[in-house]
Amino acid sequence: MSDGGVKRMYLVVESGQAEQPFRWSAGTYGSRFLTAIRDDGTFTGIKCPKCGHVYVPLRRVCGPCFTEMTELVPVSNEGTLVTFSVVSFGFVDPSTGKHRAVPYGYAVIKLDGADSYLIHFIDETDPAKMKAGDRVRAVFEDEGERTGSMLDIKHFELV
Ligand SMILES: [Zn+2]
Repeated sequence: MSDGGVKRMYLVVESGQAEQPFRWSAGTYGSRFLTAIRDDGTFTGIKCPKCGHVYVPLRRVCGPCFTEMTELVPVSNEGTLVTFSVVSFGFVDPSTGKHRAVPYGYAVIKLDGADSYLIHFIDETDPAKMKAGDRVRAVFEDEGERTGSMLDIKHFELV
């Protein structure tokens, strides 16, 4: 390909098969959030005592209020599609270390009962078949297959 006499080429650099194993704590609230997904296939939110904002995933402090939160509240497995992207250019998925097959959908979702957004995969790759405001629901891995990670949510699907 040329552009005004300048040749363009795209060099692909692979990291090879290097392993980078690590372990980290999900923390008190992150553990509660992930445990509810793993054990019950449900979402948990955390509510700010000052402004009432419900966050999913959980966090310890409400940013705008700078108030510590401790009240856990149930949040629906269904919500609204806020925006999305269809990824067509493959890259190494940092959560698995492997290339994810393209195309795949990636979405920003507002669960019913939450005031914040959750970002995850959506099981649709045709942009003409989804739009902001569409209803979606979580699809979880089968019980016994869940490991306590965000990937216990397989994806969201249009309702
Ligand atoms: Zn607040």
